Amino acid sequence: MRDFVTDAIVLSIEPSKEYDRSVSLFTKDLGLLKARVTSGARILSKFSPHLDPLNLTRVRLTHKNGFTLTDALTEERFPATRNNAISLGNALRTIALVKALAAEHEPDEKLWRALIKGLIEGTTEPNTFLKLFGYDAHRTECDSCGRVPAHYFAVKTHTFWCASCSTRMPENTLLLI
Ligand SMILES: [Zn+2]
Repeated sequence: MRDFVTDAIVLSIEPSKEYDRSVSLFTKDLGLLKARVTSGARILSKFSPHLDPLNLTRVRLTHKNGFTLTDALTEERFPATRNNAISLGNALRTIALVKALAAEHEPDEKLWRALIKGLIEGTTEPNTFLKLFGYDAHRTECDSCGRVPAHYFAVKTHTFWCASCSTRMPENTLLLI
């Protein structure tokens, strides 16, 4: 069993089993990871203000059959991003991209710095981050009909879709880029 303390951007938090949650984190030291939040309502209510998506949170993790979150403390909530509807929308789409495309359990200093800088300034854009992952949205064709540029990215299949073809896809699997 190993303990880790690292800074993390909270990407999402989802129910997993009864009384449990699963939190997706992009961490400074360990890259993308999922951690269990266990032990029921009391601990969960203590942690939950620190596990808002987009928070920069210092987390303590234990590793044994996967990661378990054992402590969380908010360091930054990025008001420049949160207090502007457009910045907030862009940031939420960006962290969905990070969750889909970042390498698991591998630190990525460049991505980490770009994300923190963008969130501080309120300038996070999905397009910029697609480029960091090696895609160029402006030049990318729709994977279905070949039209350029494609305006949507499907996070599960890593495919690009134009507006008209995208109507065939479930909306919650697509990101506007
Ligand atoms: Zn198309």
